Amino acid sequence: MSTASAITAEIKAPSANQGAPVETVAATSETAPATRTAAIRVPTPEELDWLRAASNRLETASPREIIAWAAEHYHPKLGMATAFGPEGCVIIHFLAQIQPKTYVFNLDTGYQFQETLELRDRIAARYGIEVELRRPRQTVAEYEQEHGGPVYKSNPDKCCFDRKLSVLHEASRELNAWMSGIRRDQSTDRAKASIVGWDKKFGLVKISPLANWTKQQIWKLITDEDIPYNPLHDQGYTSIGCFPCTRAVMFGEDERAGRWSGSAKTECGLHSSD
Ligand code: SF4
Repeated sequence: MSTASAITAEIKAPSANQGAPVETVAATSETAPATRTAAIRVPTPEELDWLRAASNRLETASPREIIAWAAEHYHPKLGMATAFGPEGCVIIHFLAQIQPKTYVFNLDTGYQFQETLELRDRIAARYGIEVELRRPRQTVAEYEQEHGGPVYKSNPDKCCFDRKLSVLHEASRELNAWMSGIRRDQSTDRAKASIVGWDKKFGLVKISPLANWTKQQIWKLITDEDIPYNPLHDQGYTSIGCFPCTRAVMFGEDERAGRWSGSAKTECGLHSSD
C-alpha cells in the first residue's frame, strides 16, 4: 500500500471499555506514521472520553494500582516496552506480582550496552520474566553497509526511527495497549504525559504508571526491594540508551543530558506526541 494512500482500520474497543462501540474508521495517511504500511487503530470519541475519565481517576492512584488497572483491562493485549532503565525495572517488579504473563519487550537496536543486555538475564533469573528482544529487520552490519556508515552520526532521527520506532510499530500490531516507564519530571516533553491516553503514533492505549513518581521514589524502591538495575547507573550514567548516543553526566547536569549529547535531539521519538 502506498504511504500516500488512505488506510482503513477496524477499531475494536478494549475488552473492559464497555461503553465504546466497535467501529470502522477511515484513517488518512496524515494520521499514520510516514512509513507505516499496516492499518493503524483510530479511537472513537467514546473511547477517548473513556480513557480521559480513567486517566483522571488514576491520577491519585499508586503505580501498583495503575499497573493492576492496565492488566485487568488490557491483558493479554497489554505490552510493556523497556530499555531496562530503573523505571522499567520497577514496573517489571510490580508486574511479577500483578500479572507476570504480561508481554515485556525491549527494542534491541543492536547498539545497546553489554550491561543492559546482561540485565535482561538478571531480571529473568529474579522474576522469571523473559523480556523479548525485538530487533529491526537489518543487523547493524547490514544497516551500516547499506547507508555507508553509522547512521547515528549522520542522521540520528532516521537511525532511531529505523532501529526503534519501526520495531515498536511492528509490535503494536499484536497489542491494544502499551505501558512505558516515563516520568513527568524527566523533561518538559514528558511533563505532558497522561496516566492513560491514546498514542496516535502507534494506535494504542498508552499507560504511564510512573508519570507521577519522582526519581527519588524510583531509587528508594529499587534499594528497599533490591530490584536489579543497570550497573552503569553507578558510573554516572543517569539515563541509558544506545552506547554511541549515551554518556555519563557530570555533577549538576540534567538527568537526560547524556543522551545525544552535543546535539539538539532529546528524544528518540517513542514518547513524543508529534
Ligand atoms: S539512540 Fe543512537 S544508536 Fe540508538 S537508535 Fe537512536 S540514533 Fe541509533
